[in-house]
Amino acid sequence: MVILQIILFIALTGVTFYFAFAKFKEIYDNVNLGKPEKIDTPLSFRLKKMMLIAFGQKKMFKITFPALLHLVIYASFLITQIELLEIFIDGFIGTHRIIYHLSEGTFINSLYIFVINFIEILSLLTFFVTLIFIIRRTILKIDRFKKPEMKGWATKDGLLILALELTLITFIFMMNGGDSALHIKETGKDYGFILSGILGSALTGLPDWLLLTIEKIGWWGHIMTVFAFLLYLPYSKHLHIMLAFPNTFFSRPEPKGEMHNMPAIQHEVHAMLDPSFVAPEAEGEMQFGAKDVYDLSWKSLLDAYTCTECGRCTAACPANQTGKKLSPRKIMMDTRDRMEEIAKCKKEHGPDFVDNKTLLGDYITGEELRACTTCNACVEECPVNISPLNIILELRRNLIMEQSDSPAEWNNVFANMENNQAPWQFSPSDRLNWTNELN
Ligand code: SF4
Ligand code: SF4
Repeated sequence: MVILQIILFIALTGVTFYFAFAKFKEIYDNVNLGKPEKIDTPLSFRLKKMMLIAFGQKKMFKITFPALLHLVIYASFLITQIELLEIFIDGFIGTHRIIYHLSEGTFINSLYIFVINFIEILSLLTFFVTLIFIIRRTILKIDRFKKPEMKGWATKDGLLILALELTLITFIFMMNGGDSALHIKETGKDYGFILSGILGSALTGLPDWLLLTIEKIGWWGHIMTVFAFLLYLPYSKHLHIMLAFPNTFFSRPEPKGEMHNMPAIQHEVHAMLDPSFVAPEAEGEMQFGAKDVYDLSWKSLLDAYTCTECGRCTAACPANQTGKKLSPRKIMMDTRDRMEEIAKCKKEHGPDFVDNKTLLGDYITGEELRACTTCNACVEECPVNISPLNIILELRRNLIMEQSDSPAEWNNVFANMENNQAPWQFSPSDRLNWTNELN
């Protein structure tokens, strides 16, 4: 029986990791669809950003209440991995609570009991926090969760993960409660786990076979939920629990609001100001801005996969607040969806398949892009250092400079800047005319 359990466990683990790895590899390939971007920051800068923003949740605390709720779930997720490690060892070699039994009578045993108590208390708190999150999304309908881009799958995705969390916690207490009851009946004392000890004491009246069944359902249910979570994670916005770390590690160093110049334009301006300037030969076909995900940088694509869909950017966006069509969260969701679509097409029709669609036009419209004021509020608010503005700017550059798709008023300004080196319709030679009236 134990051998059968070990075989089943190894087989399930192998299948889960195989499919999860395949999807993670696909995401890695999708991020590499992007163009190179050199982020040349010192290691200390990267580690600091990662520890403060991803691990320390610094930017989450701009809104205290949801940040505290999120912290409970996050801490619970991290600490539960310790018990999961024991489950894996037990699963692979067919033991039962191996760390507890091997460490009996030592300091490690006291530490183990402390950690399990910590896990159980956090799990109970997480249960209630998860219920609050569900209420916020379904009954209270917080404004930022009601935006058009959150209709359908996006809302279901959030709720599905919350449901998985409730399931996982239920299984943890079934596993520990059933096990504690059996332990009390066998040895006359509990493990020292406070919550499951209370639960176990209440269950000691049940027959051993039933307690064993409860414990086994809890154990297998726990690990199966973890496997389901691992398989589902790369399809979900909850991928941020992993990608927040590399994404903050590779935070862009430049101050918010600093825009990257386009060398071709710089050369033109340079030549305009200094007729002796000779622009270097352009390498390859010149294109302004980005039309599809291939034209964005890998960092912008990593940003899209890291997006938690929290909507803090959209809530802070002045364009969105004033009823414009632009939502920075939608920009990130669209970019991710486009990458997923490309991967799907390549899988179905081969690596060279071209679907004749583009991010600009098929997913994101000119109306959305033109509404951006480049205020940077979205970048400032994002808890995982994402820049929707970077993608907006690149797409808008393409829209205007490649497709000449801009309102007539803007075209006048552009023409003036090109001809007069200023937004106004006066020749540069007339600039000092106003001094004629002075003495
Ligand atoms: S930079 Fe653009 S998208 Fe971001 S908040 Fe400002 S207006 Fe909205
Ligand atoms: S870009 Fe950042 S702030 Fe906006 S939804 Fe994604 S994670 Fe939230």
